[in-house]
Amino acid sequence: MPATIIDGKALGAKVREEVAASVAELGQVGLATILVGDDPASHIYIDLKQKAATQAGMDARDLKLPADTSEEELLATIAEVNADDDVDGLLVQLPLPDHIDENRVIEAIAPEKDVDGIHPINAGRLYLGRPTLVPGTPLGIMRMLDEYEIPLEGARAVVVGRSAIVGKPMAHLLLKRNATVTICHSRTQDLERHTLDADVLVAAVGRTHVIGADMVKAGATVIDVGMNRGDGKTVYGDVDPGAAELAAYMTPVPGGVGPMTIAMVMQNTVTAARSRRLVSPAN
Ligand code: NAP
Repeated sequence: MPATIIDGKALGAKVREEVAASVAELGQVGLATILVGDDPASHIYIDLKQKAATQAGMDARDLKLPADTSEEELLATIAEVNADDDVDGLLVQLPLPDHIDENRVIEAIAPEKDVDGIHPINAGRLYLGRPTLVPGTPLGIMRMLDEYEIPLEGARAVVVGRSAIVGKPMAHLLLKRNATVTICHSRTQDLERHTLDADVLVAAVGRTHVIGADMVKAGATVIDVGMNRGDGKTVYGDVDPGAAELAAYMTPVPGGVGPMTIAMVMQNTVTAARSRRLVSPAN
């Protein structure tokens, strides 16, 4: 029987509704985004995040800086936003222009406003299994797995990819839920040996159909993070869609993980707003 398709579009919309209800309850929630330069893809991502924030009723601040902005100028802007009490969440769109040290910028973001979950303090808390702000993509995947009641305790989970924004946080979230986690990467030998063992397989590689239809275990849950553009406008996943013949659950590309990511960044902004209000005696 072909896999049940995990509907990220519908679930993403549900998360956004929940976020809007939380924003209404909190009264005021602020999100600032910073974009440096004129990379077209980055502009699209920022516009989508701005739109999602506005639709959820947040005060969305859209800071666009020219490509020749110096590192010091960017750090000064971040410091201003950090100090602004009306802003609960701050995200800096990556990648940054080459003349700017990305790590320095990430470390300048106030950890309690870091709604992308990329500051080393937040990454460290996740590593230690403590509550924290987590990158939107892996957080959205956890929400999908929970929504479709995929058992994780004791499950064999295989994450292909070890980036700071997807693979590594994904592995930690699965580990926290007592899955037995294997992380694969470009130097992994005999990838298939690992993927065929997975009850839950997360592919975050960035290579079209690197996971073949026959590399998936019967009855597995397959989460495809890949968003690979071919020659035209079509977007392809990391997993051959033919894997849906064997899998029990599978995310489509597009319409799977993608719509969850922005929704979860919005949810992170609400989380940040709630915890800032808890620690601030003024509220
Ligand atoms: P990334 O930073 O390029 O990381 C890719 C990972 O895949 C690396 O760890 C790399 O290993 C590993 N890898 C490369 N080739 C491999 C192979 N042949 N076999 C096994 N592992 C291999 O990418 P990313 O930022 O994590 O993104 C991954 C994909 O997800 C991309 O297609 C991206 O567009 C997509 N994405 C989608 C969303 C969404 O919202 N849907 C969000 C984020 C990313 P090494 O570490 O050894 O180099």
